[in-house]
Amino acid sequence: MTTNSYFSENTLEELIEEIQYVYRSDDRPWIIGYSGGKDSTTVVELVYKMLLGLPDWQRHKMVYIVSSDTRIENPLIKIYLSKLNEMIGEAAERDGLPLKTAIVQPPADNSFWANVIGRGFPTPKVTGTFRWCTDRLKINPSAEFIRDIIKKESTEVVVVLGVRKAESIARKRRIEGRELANRVMNRHETIKGAYVYNPIVELTTEDVWDVLFQMDGGQTPWGSNNNELASLYSDADSGECPFADMNAGGQTQTCGNSRFGCWVCTVVKEDKSLNGFIKSGHRELIPLADFRKWLISIRNDEDKREKKRRDGTVYKMKTGEMGYGPFTWEARQLILTKLLETQEKMGYELISMDELKAIDEIWDAELDLSRRTLVELYKNKTGQKLPWYQYKKPLIDAETVAELERLAAEHEIPFDLVRNIILSVYQNKNFSNQRKMREALERLLNQQWLHHEVLEEIEDENR
Ligand code: SF4
Repeated sequence: MTTNSYFSENTLEELIEEIQYVYRSDDRPWIIGYSGGKDSTTVVELVYKMLLGLPDWQRHKMVYIVSSDTRIENPLIKIYLSKLNEMIGEAAERDGLPLKTAIVQPPADNSFWANVIGRGFPTPKVTGTFRWCTDRLKINPSAEFIRDIIKKESTEVVVVLGVRKAESIARKRRIEGRELANRVMNRHETIKGAYVYNPIVELTTEDVWDVLFQMDGGQTPWGSNNNELASLYSDADSGECPFADMNAGGQTQTCGNSRFGCWVCTVVKEDKSLNGFIKSGHRELIPLADFRKWLISIRNDEDKREKKRRDGTVYKMKTGEMGYGPFTWEARQLILTKLLETQEKMGYELISMDELKAIDEIWDAELDLSRRTLVELYKNKTGQKLPWYQYKKPLIDAETVAELERLAAEHEIPFDLVRNIILSVYQNKNFSNQRKMREALERLLNQQWLHHEVLEEIEDENR
């Protein structure tokens, strides 16, 4: 035991007693962020044991265990987490505990693939700029879950996290009168009506492993063995979401401290956990590492990026060249093609049906006059027809599109503009108020990319 160990001055029983005291002190349901990592496993295990030690009548409020699945979890972690989530839920039912488990995901139309392949969002940068993923994939789905419980149960809630201080200073924690529950809880920084309780904040890393292995030799009350967790750690080396620990105070980490980053994370130069797994023998993950490397390599390829932003604005880079916008539609099709190839090689689902449907809808709304690009691409790559394959009818037949392209070229009108106008008219045609359509068309015709050369000329003349 190290000198700053929490257990040099406190016992495990006292820690469970404290958790029990806080649990019994009010009616606010608990929500535990469970990532499958060692810290949140410790919290779940302590809370589970605490509940087991209470008589039935004192188990007066619900404990929700929430795991976040970004939809791009490392397959090994996803399989482990789903299994454990199910085991905990079943064991709680068997033991008659007021405990439910849930897995939250970003909605299909706001997933990593919906944004990259659907809308063409550039992948988050190694430098951490343009990092649109953490909120969308990790923070928001858990926050939504918490807000839902607050609404459904018309009450405040306590979010219980496995956040620890980097440097723990051992101190004797005593249950001193009724103040303790208030003393150990903070208001949640972003969710109104939520409080945060970090029961293991003072524990060192060694303490946490001690708890996981001291209690029943690593055997959990739900029937798994923490050896499995320990071997995931040693296989993965260390590779966590580079931003998951930003708030060491644990205020916004309602999704739990994500120990393992997303498999496709483009923010880290080297995905340590993915490479660690491969090095320790999980060769089935090699296609994922290859795909990730390729995706990073095309990020700044000028042929694969629009020269205007999604809202039609443009900017110049330091070099004087036009700045990049989203991935071109061709690049998005290429990313989807490669992703489907990787999925095939792995024999493991990397993109779900509902994400494909969401992307198809985004393409229909923003790009695809034929409305068949995605379903045909999928069929060509996999030999399978998507369930909605036969229902997709072109908005405009191929011959007419070809003629429009010819006319646009003849009159030097960018075809993107023609296409955007057609799609906009189509989307607004059912509104009885014509103002909506007029405004949408005005917006399209006034977009900066159409006029920036003229504007530049005027600026030059005035100089
Ligand atoms: S692991 Fe990477 S891709 Fe996933 S949320 Fe964190 S920064 Fe984004």
